[in-house]
Amino acid sequence: MSILVTGGSGFIGSHTCVELLNSGYDTIILDNLCNSKSESVKRIKEITGKDVKFYECDIRDREGLDKIFAENSIEAVIHFAGLKCVPESISDPLSYYDNNIGGTVTLCQAMAAAGCKKIVFSSSATVYGSENPSPLKEDMPEGKTTNPYGTTKLYIERVLKDLYASDNEWSVCLLRYFNPIGAHKSGRIGEDPNGIPNNLVPYITQVAIGKLDHLNVNGNDYPTPDGTGVRDYIHVVDLALGHIKAVEKVLGETGCNTYNLGTGTGYSVLDVVNAFEKANNIKIKYEIAPRRPGDIATCYSDPSKAKEELGWVATRDLTEMCEDSWRWQSNNPRGYEE
Ligand code: NAD
Ligand code: UDP
Repeated sequence: MSILVTGGSGFIGSHTCVELLNSGYDTIILDNLCNSKSESVKRIKEITGKDVKFYECDIRDREGLDKIFAENSIEAVIHFAGLKCVPESISDPLSYYDNNIGGTVTLCQAMAAAGCKKIVFSSSATVYGSENPSPLKEDMPEGKTTNPYGTTKLYIERVLKDLYASDNEWSVCLLRYFNPIGAHKSGRIGEDPNGIPNNLVPYITQVAIGKLDHLNVNGNDYPTPDGTGVRDYIHVVDLALGHIKAVEKVLGETGCNTYNLGTGTGYSVLDVVNAFEKANNIKIKYEIAPRRPGDIATCYSDPSKAKEELGWVATRDLTEMCEDSWRWQSNNPRGYEE
């Protein structure tokens, strides 16, 4: 019995595969490599000392999916595969709707045909929109999304909820991630963004390594303690461990459940800059820049439902996240392209 991990060679997927293998699960990766490299699969094997089957396949390729389900005994799917760049989703929404929503529908059709009805899905805090106050709780109404990427997450949640409503044999876990950063302690796997990073911490590490001159702090006039945006940063290994708990949940019972995966603590942009400087003894040059369109002031989780129902809590602090992000970046200045 195996777990199929779509998008398993990507940032969060690769860390989750390591934890799955460490927990004794046979693990199969499916990825079309549109935003990752097969080198990460080699490193997953290197870290764990275990073998992983890898299929270069697109989640929209029904024949390819059917072949994977026919060749393996797959008990559950962790579904990470998707496009995730917010500005790109605004300039090319059709690719996002096709890849993320269309791909998920095709994946679920292939799963149903194969009799595999257990899925853990990568959702996002973005589905809370801007109207809900933090700390965000799972029973709050979903908000108005501000970009097509966020809308795909909202719609996929609906697709999976409707699927469960139509057939109670399904077991669905919707995981709403807050801001994953950090990397595996080995420094061998981590986040490897294409081009100039959109997200804060990869941007900081590229300033630290000298690839980028300075960080633009987007807005210092938000209603937050220091005026800069507040987010709930979570170590990617804690996030990966949350998926192990979610897999246990879908393997153990049917149902459709939603969980926040966050720490419950918000840090500002300047808190992160300071923590990174202190943890790694490196100065980060920054300038105050205009707000980024669509950004909200504050976003952090109430993670108590995941604690109560999954027995999961994030344990790694911001210092550890900054140390581990930097170890990955400094050991791999060009990401996986060594
Ligand atoms: P990532 O880009 O590193 O990983 C996604 C993987 O999916 C990549 O390896 C990519 O090649 C693959 N992929 C994309 N489209 C595919 C397709 N059609 N068929 C097969 N493979 C495909 O991103 P990540 O940061 O690891 O994110 C994983 C998931 O978590 C995504 O769904 C993302 O939207 C979601 N998420 C990420 C964040 C974050 O901040 N990183 C936050 C919330 C939610
Ligand atoms: N941010 C910033 N400069 C950057 C990238 C991000 O000041 O180059 C800020 C952004 O405005 C937000 C926080 O850092 O307040 C986290 O941004 P990120 O894109 O990492 O996550 P998201 O906004 O998607 O939660």
